[in-house]
Amino acid sequence: MKMRDKHELFSKMKEKQWKIFWNAVDIKTKNSCWEWKQHCNRGYGRKNITINNQKYVFGAHQLAFWYKNKYMDNNLQVCHKCDNRKCANPNHLYQGTQKQNTRDYVNRGKNKLSLNKATKIRKEYAQGNTCYRELGEKYNSSTSHISNIINNKHWNDKNYKPTFKNGVKMKFSFKTICKMKNEYKNTKTTVAKLAKKYNIDQSYACKIIKNKLRVNE
Ligand SMILES: [Zn+2]
Repeated sequence: MKMRDKHELFSKMKEKQWKIFWNAVDIKTKNSCWEWKQHCNRGYGRKNITINNQKYVFGAHQLAFWYKNKYMDNNLQVCHKCDNRKCANPNHLYQGTQKQNTRDYVNRGKNKLSLNKATKIRKEYAQGNTCYRELGEKYNSSTSHISNIINNKHWNDKNYKPTFKNGVKMKFSFKTICKMKNEYKNTKTTVAKLAKKYNIDQSYACKIIKNKLRVNE
């Protein structure tokens, strides 16, 4: 079967047709997935389009890719970087061979697995009953790799806020800690009073005052 010249067909589409097409896409921010709001097949968004009195069904992602690039290689597939078949955000689309697409899909799956592992490590660490070395042994990783995960240097996750500095759990933000230190320095308060005011025990207050938390980076 002769491959349809999608590039040529898409070039013939009217501005009005494109408008109708984009109306069916849930357009969000630049980097998020723009999901197709209408009919899907095998997870892919589908759009019926009539070109020169001939009816066609195209993938929403194919149309989106062409619209942005005003070009498409008919010998290649339009692939999703985000693995979300419904997505029609041109920033998430690229062209590749079937083989490339499968390989990329497998690699992204592996990455996702590692991210899940990182999330697990973070949760375990936050519970406070373990240390880098122990986690390293458990997850077959180096101590420094675990440290990088805990401090969000590896597997940077914007939803994860480390509550640690150098592995020490911080009850307060850096700003609050500075405030406490200034209070101690500039007023006649005592460690005991400070501990009471901030509802912490005296040894913790003492650590803050004496810079034992090592948060001054
Ligand atoms: Zn997407």
